[in-house]
Amino acid sequence: MDRNVFTVDATLVDQLRSGVRGGVLLPGQSDYDEARSVWNAMIDRRPAIIARCLGSSDVLACVNFAREHGITLSIRGGGHNISGLAVCNDGLMLDMSLMRGVWVDPSARTARVQAGCLLGDVDRETQMHGLAAVLGFVSTTGIAGLTLGGGFGYLTRRFGWSCDNVLSMDLVTADGRAVHASEDVANDVFWGLRGGGGNFGVVTSFEYKLYPVGPEVTAGAIAWRAEAAPDVLEMYRAVTAQAPPELTCAALLRRAPPAPWLPKHVHGQPIITLVVCHTGPVAEAQKELARIKAFGSPLGDVVQRRSYVSQQSLIDGTQPKGRRYYWKSEFLPRLDPGLLAMCIEHSERIVSPHSAIVLFPVEGALNRLPADYSAVGNRSAGWVLNITASWEEAGQDETNIQWARAAWGEMHRFSTGGTYVNFLTEEEGDERIHAAYGANYGRLVELKRKWDPGNLFRMNKNIPSEGS
Ligand SMILES: Cc1cc2nc3c(=O)[nH]c(=O)nc-3n(C[C@H](O)[C@H](O)[C@H](O)COP(=O)(O)OP(=O)(O)OC[C@H]3O[C@@H](n4cnc5c(N)ncnc54)[C@H](O)[C@@H]3O)c2cc1C
Repeated sequence: MDRNVFTVDATLVDQLRSGVRGGVLLPGQSDYDEARSVWNAMIDRRPAIIARCLGSSDVLACVNFAREHGITLSIRGGGHNISGLAVCNDGLMLDMSLMRGVWVDPSARTARVQAGCLLGDVDRETQMHGLAAVLGFVSTTGIAGLTLGGGFGYLTRRFGWSCDNVLSMDLVTADGRAVHASEDVANDVFWGLRGGGGNFGVVTSFEYKLYPVGPEVTAGAIAWRAEAAPDVLEMYRAVTAQAPPELTCAALLRRAPPAPWLPKHVHGQPIITLVVCHTGPVAEAQKELARIKAFGSPLGDVVQRRSYVSQQSLIDGTQPKGRRYYWKSEFLPRLDPGLLAMCIEHSERIVSPHSAIVLFPVEGALNRLPADYSAVGNRSAGWVLNITASWEEAGQDETNIQWARAAWGEMHRFSTGGTYVNFLTEEEGDERIHAAYGANYGRLVELKRKWDPGNLFRMNKNIPSEGS
């Protein structure tokens, strides 16, 4: 059978259905379209069959089925990947989204988390104990894709990439084995899974290290008119150059969203926003944030004591599922004044009111580990630049994509040379995958040869077993 064209055969479907406790969905059935839809509406793929896994044995049944019948296999975690890699055409989509259990061990400060969880699921359970895992900025993102590609958020400056803080993973391998991987067992694939995406198996659960954080932090957002952007960015550069790891402060240049904390008359007007989170003691946070809060004439300021959980979903509303998205991204070593000037220049040319140029700081703990500590590498990264085009109508694709490409065309010269695998778009292939892994690429190819020589797991930013 052709690997890429799987015509649904009733006998085969029955065979799979009998092995999957969570059931299967076929085209035309209710829930099929919802199950295949992902965050980025640019992606419109139609799997021949969707298997809704409830546990590791369901995952095992799917992996064996796809391998034995030569069927394209895709794995859906949170469905947030910009390239839409969770969904395949004509093949089997293994849907993990029903596997959302979280078990916290407060005394050991660890959590075992099933791979279908969203970030918000983990925060909700861990914050009951005043603990947090190192995750990302938007609560509806899947933990699996985020962690397997690296992962960064408000706690990264203190504790490193999300994947630096994984103690073990359970996975199902291409040859249908259930493997527990950690520093002590199967440590070669454990290294590769921490950055190498879904190239080596289907991860069914992650064990995260947790840290005392919250339940309240000093955090929120503060915004100024775009005319103040040069001064705000200069202040931002000075503040972040001296910020302790407890303070993470992202900068966004965009048009004002219709948020209640911003005056109505500026909605739709260009603004600059700092999204701030200080996870240290209140007195220190107030001292660190005083300069930001006193700067110029903010249009709105909701930096205050708030729950960590509320901060973790503060910008969710700006990134809804179902819009069209296109990103260009780079890791930066530092905030070069020339780059900041270009951020302002290209933000003035933004086409859609939903688009933004975003700077996230990551420097700190991750820089102190050796480059080959885990596959994610990029240990020289100080910042993430993300040029995020976001719009509503298919007819506007070209102009929005061109805006992002033009901005990136002038800004990528400020890159470390590395890029973030989790932010790569559909058309970014081999060259960009090499850039994402740098010197770690060769070791990933070796691992692919050992753990998935037939490239069963290829709906990802693919590491082919023969290299490229
Ligand atoms: C709005 C938004 C905000 C974001 N914010 C951040 C952020 O703050 N920090 C950050 O680091 N990243 C962030 N990201 C990027 C995010 O890390 C990636 O989009 C990531 O791929 C999402 O994971 P997912 O499980 O939702 O994706 P999916 O689309 O479900 O999957 C992504 C890839 O992972 C593979 N995969 C998923 N589950 C498994 C599994 N169980 N086993 C093996 N492979 C699997 C899939 O096959 C696919 O190749 C953000 C993305 C979006 C859209």
